[in-house]
Amino acid sequence: MDVENIIYHGRIKVPYKWYVGETGSRFFIGLRDNKELWGNRCPKCDRVYVPPIKTCWECFVPTKEWVKLKDTGTVESFTVTHYSEGVAPKDVPIIYGLIKIDGADGSLLHFIGDVEPGDVSVGMRVKAVFAEERTGSILDIKHFVPSNE
Ligand SMILES: [Zn+2]
Repeated sequence: MDVENIIYHGRIKVPYKWYVGETGSRFFIGLRDNKELWGNRCPKCDRVYVPPIKTCWECFVPTKEWVKLKDTGTVESFTVTHYSEGVAPKDVPIIYGLIKIDGADGSLLHFIGDVEPGDVSVGMRVKAVFAEERTGSILDIKHFVPSNE
């Protein structure tokens, strides 16, 4: 690895990998192989988590039931950045949205794309657009776009 691949704008890149565990693996494999969003349900409080978690953080019981979710949701919150740190896989302006996925109680933080920042609003319906080449990461969802679904 040469220096230009290690240092970017005076910052040191630290490439690394980590094991996301059994629960995270199932979630990312669903995205990668089938373009599916999976969450899991707490047997005690019925909350559906996405991204899925191994143990309900309210009840402290294992969340073993898997729930196939829709690829649609609602924008709960969003922000727009007009500068790039060089690590985001998007050109500016970048719209970050907190998306409440249909059928889940949790939300995903992800990009909102194919829309002008001024046209994004809280409550807007969106749909996931999956990347053509998927690798088993959250970026297997390219971004969410406005939708009538
Ligand atoms: Zn619970």
